[in-house]
Amino acid sequence: MKFYNTLTKTKEEFVPLEEGKVKMYVCGPTVYNLIHIGNARPMIVFDTLRRYMLYKGFDVNYVSNFTDVDDKIINKANEEGVSSEEISTRYIAECKKDMEAMNIMPATTHPLATQEIGGMIEMIQELIDKGYAYEVNGTVYFRTRKFDEYGKLSHKNLDDLRSGNRDIKVTGEDQKEDPLDFVLWKPKKEGEPSWASPWSDGRPGWHIECSVMSKRYLGTTIDIHGGGEDLIFPHHENEIAQSECASGVPFARYWLHNAFLKVNGDKMSKSLGNFFTVREICEEYDPQVLRYFTLTAHYRSPLNFSREIMESSKNALERILTGAEALRETAAKGGEMSDAEKEKLPKLSEIRAKFEAAMEDDINTADAIAAVFELVKLGNTEVKDGCSGAFAAEMLAELDELCGILGLKTERAKEDLDAQVEAMIAERQAARKAKDFAKADAIRAQLLEMGIILEDTREGVKWKKA
Ligand code: AMP
Ligand code: ZN
Repeated sequence: MKFYNTLTKTKEEFVPLEEGKVKMYVCGPTVYNLIHIGNARPMIVFDTLRRYMLYKGFDVNYVSNFTDVDDKIINKANEEGVSSEEISTRYIAECKKDMEAMNIMPATTHPLATQEIGGMIEMIQELIDKGYAYEVNGTVYFRTRKFDEYGKLSHKNLDDLRSGNRDIKVTGEDQKEDPLDFVLWKPKKEGEPSWASPWSDGRPGWHIECSVMSKRYLGTTIDIHGGGEDLIFPHHENEIAQSECASGVPFARYWLHNAFLKVNGDKMSKSLGNFFTVREICEEYDPQVLRYFTLTAHYRSPLNFSREIMESSKNALERILTGAEALRETAAKGGEMSDAEKEKLPKLSEIRAKFEAAMEDDINTADAIAAVFELVKLGNTEVKDGCSGAFAAEMLAELDELCGILGLKTERAKEDLDAQVEAMIAERQAARKAKDFAKADAIRAQLLEMGIILEDTREGVKWKKA
């Protein structure tokens, strides 16, 4: 399996640190609001990678944090007149609901920054002891110039960074030795959540949390670190500096970054206000459509959001669901595979090989989806030609497994099924009223094939699953 590694700017063969095991960390959201569909992109992409690695038999330890201490959370808490904890607890719960709707597996561990302060204080102290950090008036800074390899992930030259940064010392940070030094710990301001530390009552900077959590749950060197490309600099660069200076060993071997979800060419973001929350999109579309849409592009390509593209994603997903439904109905009829059908089985392996080759090539979900459609097309043709139940079952199992790796379900959500059955019953009633009994019977038979039994009662038509 090959990944494009931001660190080396090349596609590299993936070799895990420990055979059969993958240690993976993905930076999670800051929880002060409902997540938007841009935030959902890394969640969906890295969940899909995780599912593929599970399919390949790896034991995947997947850690993704919630940043629950941050200026934005504090501001929101002040606006509402509640505690920061109330805000973060609320939006972690909402985020987990959205993740479940999008069929994103819960992480092996979802650590919270506020629960890891002890570890952060320890790592900061270690950095101070080794000369990589210094304290001024209760604030602790990382001494960037002390780490020779600073800039290796973002491929930025330290001198250029330094000259570009000369004028942008933020007020209150003029006590820094160097404009590139960044905060590890800062003293509290009135009304802010805070923790006792050797330097001040205060709170950690943002970057240190990921270094500490990934070390605690995965160890000093991990296999894969993921996140959106906006995190490369400074967040991931700073994570590397902190972790490697503290431990003396490489932090992460493969750095994977997804490109942006865009709207009219701009990055979707809360600050630009051009965002749609996962919640609002899922009121209009099945969350599966959002997942499908996200996977139609390679994760390193920008993806533009529009209603048109959501509509075409909805239709494409519908073709998969309808194909699976037809296979399910045919499979339910039973019947053994003919010799001619047995001879077609290698075609299924060929399609699976195409799917795998796409996923192996830096998680090319766009091509993997193309392989899924090849299978759907084959299924439709075979069903139309009256294939056996056994052959249909074989194709369905294949389709289920490939879609499952992409996190897509091949069965309609229950509400969709309900709506479809209700619509067909209404159509049958209309046919009966018009004395078109042949049509009414045909609809009843069609429903029966879908496993739905109708009962005509005095109160009207009732239905149940066979
Ligand atoms: P944040 O809550 O802003 O820290 O973002 C959480 C995650 O979502 C990070 O991995 C970001 O890189 C990612 N992200 C934010 N906006 C977008 C976007 N428009 N497209 C893709 N990823 C994004
Ligand atoms: Zn992080």
